[in-house]
Amino acid sequence: AFEDETIIVVLGASGDLAKKKTFPALFNLFKLNLLPKQTHIIGYARTKMDQPTFHEKISGHLKGLDTDEGKQAKEGFLKICKYISGQYDEDESFQKLNKEMEETASGKGDKPPSRLFYMALPPNVFTVVATGLKKNCYNDKGQNRIVIEKPFGKDLESSREMIGALKGLWKEEETFRIDHYLGKEMVKNLLIMRFGNPLIDAGLNNKLVDNVQITFKEPFGTEGRGGYFDEFGIIRDIQQNHLSQVLSLLAMDRPKSFSAEDIRDQKVKVLKAVPAIKEEDVLIGQYTASGDKPGYKDDDTVPKDSNCPTYAALTLWVNNDRWKNVPFILKGGKALDEAKVEIRVQFKDTEGGIFQDIPRNELVIRIQPNEAVYLKMNAKKPGLEMNTLPADLDLTYKERFSEVRIPEAYEALILDALNGDHSNFVRDDELDVSWAIFTPILHAIDAGKIKNEPYPYGSRGPPSVHKFVERYGYKRSNQSYEWPTTNVQ
Ligand code: NAP
Ligand code: NAP
Repeated sequence: AFEDETIIVVLGASGDLAKKKTFPALFNLFKLNLLPKQTHIIGYARTKMDQPTFHEKISGHLKGLDTDEGKQAKEGFLKICKYISGQYDEDESFQKLNKEMEETASGKGDKPPSRLFYMALPPNVFTVVATGLKKNCYNDKGQNRIVIEKPFGKDLESSREMIGALKGLWKEEETFRIDHYLGKEMVKNLLIMRFGNPLIDAGLNNKLVDNVQITFKEPFGTEGRGGYFDEFGIIRDIQQNHLSQVLSLLAMDRPKSFSAEDIRDQKVKVLKAVPAIKEEDVLIGQYTASGDKPGYKDDDTVPKDSNCPTYAALTLWVNNDRWKNVPFILKGGKALDEAKVEIRVQFKDTEGGIFQDIPRNELVIRIQPNEAVYLKMNAKKPGLEMNTLPADLDLTYKERFSEVRIPEAYEALILDALNGDHSNFVRDDELDVSWAIFTPILHAIDAGKIKNEPYPYGSRGPPSVHKFVERYGYKRSNQSYEWPTTNVQ
């Protein structure tokens, strides 16, 4: 474990991710006493800033400061945080950073302080910074780790190029590639829910399951950052990484153990059984203006002829004994009617004869908001008649675990990286198989061969999405299923 003196360097400390996610996560770990005993945090970026300005900047998003305890914790936290400015492509700057690290460390421990480099930087500088750090800031005698954020390339080729360039410098065991979905409570819960509950896992196969939907919905558009988004599109942003990670955890076979490599071996194995997505299994869309909400192309930074999808429904097939012929529909979009991320496993129809038009069972795992797991099932309608009624077995976290704070994904992941646990990070071969699945359709979309269907801002997505999911067997019940409004929504 990372118990010794530790220096965490946040590169790109002047940016958005650092301010909104990295520092708040570090602060919460500090407050919970989970950082190694002697931790020093150094922010690094090109922007010139004095310490008070930096402290003010990183304080902006810290939570729980309204109590005396919170205020005290903030004071303590800021004492271990400092900032230095430097370039990303100059040995001299990194040497200055190295000197700063040496001076910051107390040197009281038995071993040299461990170094964790967190790259909160845009991808165009990943390689040059990783090179500069290895050359100038790597401590041969101690532990060194590097944390990287997506995007890991734009397709199979560029991902291989990037992995290749970093590989010569940083060993796989020193590298922690973040997909923050892997830090989310309900995604981490998948392993426990499946392999800790034989009853649930026994139902997850092509004998019982008809179709699976993994859905990401966001109620806002690109809001001024369209130019940046246009280079990637929704599939690179959501499906290729977050939703395919969820798919692999849901569909993989039981790992030999819960060690990081055993888990990741199974995830790679299941993704290897997924062939590249075919054009006929793709529906893409782009949002248009509605009411006072602008359309995607109304953003001046977006090219007027952009074919970039802001919505996509993609069907993946897992060609192994367990899942053959079960469609996994990965849906994701911006500017939709609601915010939600969920897994919906729809089971097959019940045998005919006794019941008519009885709804299918569905196992729903809501990843966000309001974490929940529920199984939609049929019950006898209470009373003297012998009728059925759709109901549910429900585990709503806010009700069942009302006293527990669910940690932010980044807290969980930074703690794992400090402990050297790779289970919830993306391995190089995992990236490779995942890009192989998505690259052909991404290229077809980039070349304009697949066209976007327009949908109004705030709607449920392209109108033909309902036909699309029906084509793969999804049946929406016409029996009204009611969720009591007194419950947590
Ligand atoms: P950002 O704010 O655009 O950039 C971080 C810092 O990098 C900036 O403050 C700037 O610092 C420097 N920088 C910006 N553009 C640069 C350029 N073209 N060349 C060199 N340096 C540049 O980015 P971010 O939103 O924090 O995201 C950082 C990484 O995390 C990205 O890879 C992003 O994809 C990923 N990510 C972000 C979020 C999020 O919530 N923001 C979520 C998931 C993943 P200086 O000018 O001071 O050097
Ligand atoms: P639902 O919201 O009815 O969605 C079920 C499926 O039907 C989804 O695939 C959805 O597509 C689609 N759909 C939704 N509205 C549609 C429409 N107007 N036309 C065509 N397709 C539509 O989900 P549910 O599981 O039956 O739950 C119903 C409500 O009860 C939800 O609000 C849910 O949050 C609530 N509930 C809450 C809990 C809990 O908090 N523990 C438990 C049970 C139910 P998209 O995925 O694309 O939206």
